[in-house]
Amino acid sequence: MSTATSPATVLLDCGSGGKASQRLIADCFFRHFHNPILSAMDDAARLDLHGPLAMSTDSYTVTPLVFPGGSIGTLAVHGTVNDVSMLGARPRYLSCGFIIEEGLDFALLDRVTADMAAAARAAGVLIVTGDTKVVPRGACDKLFINTTGIGEIIADPAPSGHRARPGDVVLISGSMGDHGLTVMARREGLSFVSDVASDSAPLNGMVEELLRRTGDIHVLRDPTRGGLATTLNEIAGQSGVSITVREADIPVRENVKNGCSFLGLDPLYLANEGKLICILPQEKAETALEAMRASPYGAEAAAIGTVLDPDDGPAKAGQVILETPIGGRRLLSMLEGDQLPRIC
Ligand code: MG
Repeated sequence: MSTATSPATVLLDCGSGGKASQRLIADCFFRHFHNPILSAMDDAARLDLHGPLAMSTDSYTVTPLVFPGGSIGTLAVHGTVNDVSMLGARPRYLSCGFIIEEGLDFALLDRVTADMAAAARAAGVLIVTGDTKVVPRGACDKLFINTTGIGEIIADPAPSGHRARPGDVVLISGSMGDHGLTVMARREGLSFVSDVASDSAPLNGMVEELLRRTGDIHVLRDPTRGGLATTLNEIAGQSGVSITVREADIPVRENVKNGCSFLGLDPLYLANEGKLICILPQEKAETALEAMRASPYGAEAAAIGTVLDPDDGPAKAGQVILETPIGGRRLLSMLEGDQLPRIC
C-alpha cells in the first residue's frame, strides 16, 4: 500500500498500526462513523453515562456478509443494541472490533461499514471506539465484527429472564424465522426460496414505548440463535415456571413456512434479529400489544401463550408446551446442537 490511493482490497499492512492502517481507518471507519467522541482519537472513549448500566457484547461471523434485508454490519449494530435494550435499558454507545481477512474487497468493507453507521444513526447510538486487525488469508473468513454496547437502565425493576410469573401472558412482536431462513437460502443458493428478507432491526424504540405505556415488564428477550423455542425454554428454566404457547397464534410468513417445510427446518428454532418476546401480567397485555404495533417493527405483534405454575399445570418447571392447531400438545424442547452455524 505504497500509493496514496486506496487499493481495491485490504492488504496485511492495513492492520499494522502504521500509515496503511491509519489510511484505512480514515478512509473507511472515520468517514462513516465520525462523531466528536470517536474523533478525539484518544486511547479510550470518554463517556457520559448515568447508572445503573447494561452492557452486552457479541461477535458476528455471519456468512454471506450481505443478504436480503441486511448485512453483517446491520446485525453487528442491531444485535447488540437489542441485547442491551432487553434489560429495559436505553443503548447509548457501541465499540466495534473488525477482524479482516487479507484480500477482502475494499468496496465490501466500505458497504458493511456504511450499513453499521446507518444502523447506529437510526438506533440513536454512537460508535465511540474501535479496533482493526488484518489477518493472513485463511486465518479468518473474510470479515468478523465484534460489538459491545452500553446503555442506561430506565426500568425499575429491570426485566429479567428470572421474573416470569404464573398467569403472565407471553407476547411476541412479529413473525418468526425470517432471518434464519433468509441467510440459509442465500448461503445455499436456494432460488426457490424467494421474497424472504432478514428482519434485522433495532428494537430500542419499541422497548422504550413498551416501558412508557405499561410500566413493569417481567421479561424481555430477543429470540435470536435457537429461535423462539430455545429462548422460551431458557426463560422457563430461569424463572422455574412452565410456558404454554399456541402454534396457531405464532405469526410465521407463508414463504418462510414453505421454505422451512421444504428444507426440513422448524421456524420456531430459526434465528430472528428484529423481534422480541415480552412477558407481563395479563391485565397489561392489550396495552403492550398496542405499544408494539405502534412501532414500525411490531405490526404483527401477537399474544401467543401463558406462563403456568409447574405445580398445577401439564408441564414441569423449565418445560415449554406447544398446543397444536388440532388441539394436541407436545413438548417444545431446546435446540439440540447447531442446525445453522454462522447465522449471525
Ligand atoms: Mg438476546
